[in-house]
Amino acid sequence: MTDYDELLEKAYSSIKSDGSTGERFEIPKLDSFTEGNKTIVKNFGTVVDSIRRKREELVKYLSKELAVPASLDADRLILQRKFFGDLINKKFEDYVNTYVICKQCRKPDTHIEAVGHVKMVVCEACGAKNPAK
Ligand SMILES: [Zn+2]
Repeated sequence: MTDYDELLEKAYSSIKSDGSTGERFEIPKLDSFTEGNKTIVKNFGTVVDSIRRKREELVKYLSKELAVPASLDADRLILQRKFFGDLINKKFEDYVNTYVICKQCRKPDTHIEAVGHVKMVVCEACGAKNPAK
């Protein structure tokens, strides 16, 4: 085994050491840039499709969380303010952790079911149902 292999092995096992059985789901990153007084997330559509949630739902969520008007422009999200750093991704990660990733098996293969007033994250991989929070 070369040093490089060993390094890889180490890196890999530390990724897997979160206690779950399978591979860990990597939350995709939103890629944005500022233009004038706006921030444009250019891969918004692709990223939202990849977590199988409705674009409109994410627009509403981010608009509320970031306290700024937001709109869809084809695949892009337009935020009516300049954002620097990782605030948008931080909010997006909160969303994914709350509404997408299964609390039981940590997989993102879920959908939302409304049970009365409670939103449940229903896992298609392991069958778990957990309230979204
Ligand atoms: Zn699950």
